Amino acid sequence: MGKKIVIVGGVAGGATAAARLRRLDETSHIVVFEKGEYISFANCGLPYYIGETITNRNDLLVQTVEGMSKRFNLDIRPLNEVTKINRDQKSVQVKNIRTGELYEEAYDTLILSPGAIPIHPSIPGIEKAVNVFTLRNIPDTDRIKTFVDEMKPQKAAVIGGGFIGIEMAENLHQRGVEVTLIEMANQIMAPLDFEMASILHNHLKDKGVQLLLGDGVRSFEENGRKIRLAGGKEIETDMTLLSIGVRPESQLAKDAGLVLGERGGIKVNEYLQTSDPSIYAIGDAIEVTDYINGNPAMIPLAWPANRQGRIAANNIYGKNELYSGTLGTSIAKVFDYTVATAGNNEKTLKRYGIPYQAIHIHPGSHAGYYPGASPIALKLLFDPDNGKILGIQGVGMEGVDKRIDVVATAIKGGLTVYDLPELELAYAPPYSSAKDPVNMLGYVASNISDRMVEIVQWHEIDEIVQNGGILVDVRSEAEWEMGYIKGSINIPLDELRERLAELPKDKVIHVSCQVGLRGYLAARILMEHGYQAKNLDGGWKTYSSVYGTNANITCG
Ligand SMILES: Cc1cc2nc3c(=O)[nH]c(=O)nc-3n(C[C@H](O)[C@H](O)[C@H](O)COP(=O)(O)OP(=O)(O)OC[C@H]3O[C@@H](n4cnc5c(N)ncnc54)[C@H](O)[C@@H]3O)c2cc1C
Repeated sequence: MGKKIVIVGGVAGGATAAARLRRLDETSHIVVFEKGEYISFANCGLPYYIGETITNRNDLLVQTVEGMSKRFNLDIRPLNEVTKINRDQKSVQVKNIRTGELYEEAYDTLILSPGAIPIHPSIPGIEKAVNVFTLRNIPDTDRIKTFVDEMKPQKAAVIGGGFIGIEMAENLHQRGVEVTLIEMANQIMAPLDFEMASILHNHLKDKGVQLLLGDGVRSFEENGRKIRLAGGKEIETDMTLLSIGVRPESQLAKDAGLVLGERGGIKVNEYLQTSDPSIYAIGDAIEVTDYINGNPAMIPLAWPANRQGRIAANNIYGKNELYSGTLGTSIAKVFDYTVATAGNNEKTLKRYGIPYQAIHIHPGSHAGYYPGASPIALKLLFDPDNGKILGIQGVGMEGVDKRIDVVATAIKGGLTVYDLPELELAYAPPYSSAKDPVNMLGYVASNISDRMVEIVQWHEIDEIVQNGGILVDVRSEAEWEMGYIKGSINIPLDELRERLAELPKDKVIHVSCQVGLRGYLAARILMEHGYQAKNLDGGWKTYSSVYGTNANITCG
């Protein structure tokens, strides 16, 4: 008889670990406890079933208890909740939810993959609100979908602008519901920096979502039909989705005396063992190490849960595999846009005092002359001393996913920004350009490191101009007239050489254009003629995504 392995939680991490364990050993007894009715369902697909992009509910059930039990010879027990871990006896106490019966199950090794639960704050009036939902699993999904189908709400409030909130805002909007999105921070999608999130703020407003930033819920009134915000606003709503984040489901571990991190995640070592070596923990419930900055972090995503499930199983069979940390690569659809990130953002790097250089570019998703190209806003953060890539953010309508994935791969492969121009990526006009946006990131970063150009950022330029700095906008006159930075003067790039005499040599000349490329050319011309020049990184496009514009969007 082989090992007896007990798993708590039968969805992303738990189901992955169970299947891998079986592939490693035919003789073990593997018991999977799941307190819910379903195992291995597609959490990530839930919002799209509510929005009816996914129309068949069964498609959400990736594996059934019967199917998975048979294929992997598992002892899967849905509707059985593990209520206690008896570490001394190496057993768990289990409650059969159908019958209420309590029983013990012994283990040689225990894997905890209990996930994370939506935060449900004790806001005044919330207990009386009959129309407030959270979304984690199939029963939550059924409740929300039935409410939308039957009650036909006209207005919905989504509280929290993270992944689930944004996905639900879009899916409720798709069902014809008028959505108000309330977010306490000054931006949605925390993995992005503010200027990148601003592109999405503008898009959400264009799509008719009422976006309320920098405000939080003070109380629910009239059984949830009215929400009063801290800033004094009142919102009428037929339903509310609370999506203000999740917290690790770590009570079981805590009660068993396992060590937890500051934010309540279960602490594990590089082999994913808890403070008790016969208990492993994986997924949303654990504290991970941030792959970039090495600090503890909570990053509740499906890739880490799946990867950790496999590694824990391998380690139970003596493979000594290390989990190298979480990069937090993530992606979401926000109406017509895709937003994706990997690594650290500027806010995080600042918080940890890590030196960085930021660059913004806006290349086309594919060759401009082939129909259908759209711009991608990309922001890269790197260490100016050694070119180490620290983070990437992308927002655009097409081709964002592959650029972020290439850079995420580069990070894990230990490549620097100087290696990015060397990446020989697939090209034909419908897909990319001969210089792919990822190559361009490498060129721009290398130019800065080689001191071919110095840059200033979108949040610095106003102050520079207000303090008497010179800003030359080198776009065409027509582009300039559509919108420009206050205090700038317009000298189109192609006239610059003839009009150099208009510019003083004893002051820094700041240059800007639409996306930063013509500004770079202008800066080079100026520098070659003995001027000091600095280019506005990301150009008018990055600047105006924050400060607003009616300007046309052009590339170049
Ligand atoms: C709506 C939604 C959309 C998402 N979209 C994405 C996405 O697009 N991309 C992405 O990367 N991630 C996404 N996620 C996050 C992703 O689903 C999680 O990171 C992943 O499922 C975590 O895996 P896990 O095994 O840790 O927890 P889970 O998959 O949540 O599984 C934990 C299971 O453990 C069970 N359990 C808990 N305690 C006990 C107990 N004591 N006894 C028995 N069973 C117990 C729970 O009932 C639960 O079913 C989404 C999540 C949600 C809710």
